[in-house]
Amino acid sequence: MRKVTLMELRELALQSKNNLWDKARALDRDVKLYLHWTAGHYGQFFDSYHINIDADGSVYVSANDLAAAKSHTYRRNSGAIGISLACAYNATTNNFGLEPPTPAQIEAAAQVVAVLAAALDLTIDLQRVMTHAEAADNKDGLNPGYGANGYPDGRHGPEHSCERWDLWFFPGVAPGEGGNVIRGKANWYRNQGVS
Ligand SMILES: [Zn+2]
Repeated sequence: MRKVTLMELRELALQSKNNLWDKARALDRDVKLYLHWTAGHYGQFFDSYHINIDADGSVYVSANDLAAAKSHTYRRNSGAIGISLACAYNATTNNFGLEPPTPAQIEAAAQVVAVLAAALDLTIDLQRVMTHAEAADNKDGLNPGYGANGYPDGRHGPEHSCERWDLWFFPGVAPGEGGNVIRGKANWYRNQGVS
């Protein structure tokens, strides 16, 4: 893991841009950004995400090539960047436990999305920027059937059996609104010129 500034992240995104778009276009879609939490501890990072964000909002990359294939979001990993908040150890939908997503993590996630979207020419909307909870419920309609019984590993989002509910909500935000809140903040940062 290597700690990076938002400006360094922007450079990496620009270097990876053509490869990301080639992979996404091969699938007839735009590049996607997926937002996760690790369900681990603060300060505990994982290689399966391109970008890890710590509790204090600091940003780490696991690879310089943001187009490299990583396993973060079932059937959605090509031409996609996985971003994860290091938090939510033992969290349940009733109790976030001792390591909930922090306000600094949420703000950093929104800034990371703003920077990546600007560098990669992406509109910040549900079609291009999704939480894992939204992806697992197939909110963009990308994988017909997999939000219901067609998801072979049996892990669905909150509208189904809820094994995958990353950022469906977080402290201070209503269930189902996590993605909207982060996209709203990301658009705000983009409009402020954070890029
Ligand atoms: Zn996830």
